[in-house]
Amino acid sequence: MEKTTTNVLIAGAGHAGAQAALMLRKLGFAGAVALAGAEADPPYERPPLSKAYLAGEEPFERMLMRPKEAWAELNIDLLRGRRIVAVNPAAHEARCENGERITYGKMIWAAGGTPRRLPAPGGDLAGIHVIRMRADVDAIRAELGGANNIVIIGGGYIGLEAASVLVGMGKRVCVLEAQDRLLARVAGPALSDFYEGEHRSRGVDIRLGAKVDAIIEQGGRPAGVRLAGGADLPADLVIVGIGIAPEVEPLIAAGAEGALGGVKVDEFCRTSLPDIYAAGDCAAHANRHAGGAVIRLESVQNAHDQAAAAAAAIAGSPKPYDAVPWFWSDQYDLKLQTAGLSTGHDQALVRGDPDSRSFSVVYLKNSRVIALDCVNATRDYAQGRRLVSTGGVCDLNLLTDPDVPLYKPPVRKG
Ligand code: NAP
Repeated sequence: MEKTTTNVLIAGAGHAGAQAALMLRKLGFAGAVALAGAEADPPYERPPLSKAYLAGEEPFERMLMRPKEAWAELNIDLLRGRRIVAVNPAAHEARCENGERITYGKMIWAAGGTPRRLPAPGGDLAGIHVIRMRADVDAIRAELGGANNIVIIGGGYIGLEAASVLVGMGKRVCVLEAQDRLLARVAGPALSDFYEGEHRSRGVDIRLGAKVDAIIEQGGRPAGVRLAGGADLPADLVIVGIGIAPEVEPLIAAGAEGALGGVKVDEFCRTSLPDIYAAGDCAAHANRHAGGAVIRLESVQNAHDQAAAAAAAIAGSPKPYDAVPWFWSDQYDLKLQTAGLSTGHDQALVRGDPDSRSFSVVYLKNSRVIALDCVNATRDYAQGRRLVSTGGVCDLNLLTDPDVPLYKPPVRKG
């Protein structure tokens, strides 16, 4: 079996992995860099998967992070179709699913996460889809022609973005959310209510507090969804968006600090294992914007910024990770942009009028702005992000007046 040797091995070729490789080169790192990914494609942007790519409006080639040939030009060795399943930190050796062994000097673990499967009978039938990779969406698109009734399980970003695309294609869409409101993990109640109203107004059947008892099977495929309480919903196609499980098992098995809920990293993205860093969805870190709590952030921003921190540490110019978290979601003609983390807020103020479909929700803790959800309000978002990053101090009496800027840069004298 083949054996590869590299200075830096990056496990995972998603946003974090690709960014780490590019950053190493940008910082002048001249050693060998191998970027190992389980998928067959070169690194690509994932946000369009649940948006324009699902809609068939964006060709895959436009989603590539770099043109195919750019990786070789940067002397980055793309190892495609390689899932790393075991790590031996003492020997500095990783083993791929296909048996191949890779010896490394340093490793950046950027393996992301795997969509959670539906914990109900029938949850693993063929024809129960998730959205995480290109192949997932290709499989959905291949079945869309014959699908009229689509049930989406999970009312988070994945479920709602997919609902907005599919109802726009004329499908009958039902969203089942276990919580008593949509986007419960990522936004406050005012925003949940607004998005619920938007989806309902377009004909999406939203069921909150819904518990799936089983997938109804016909000929090995899903034909419907049975809810607790006995109601059956017809379904030609089922999409499950109920979160991810971080992909960390090989590191935890090798003795890394953390758990299956995430591998622990410090501010330079170092794990507790020698010469192994981690970045992105799988990396649990103490975050200042969460009051110092150890959390994982599932966002493109965090993937990029943690990858940059790991690359900088390896390239010899360490800089701690300390970025303001931000997220976005596109549903219909609504752009939701979030700055900061609202967890633990003690006050939420609405700035602007939700009926105008351009407004923000400002979250405060101890009279400081800690986060904002901005809907079609890009100026609020840009200013709000600065406000959060500079400590969140502003004139509270003026916060709800949309004509007053949230943040004014300090005037420079002299
Ligand atoms: P998510 O944001 O965690 O939302 C999943 C929702 O489904 C949660 O409210 C969850 O409730 C609910 N749920 C869990 N089990 C359920 C069940 N059996 N039946 C019905 N509802 C259930 O996860 P996601 O939407 O699947 O997204 C996955 C990943 O993709 C995340 O990392 C997300 O950030 C990323 N993503 C991001 C964007 C974006 O930033 N715009 C877009 C797409 C995807 P509980 O909290 O009770 O489990």
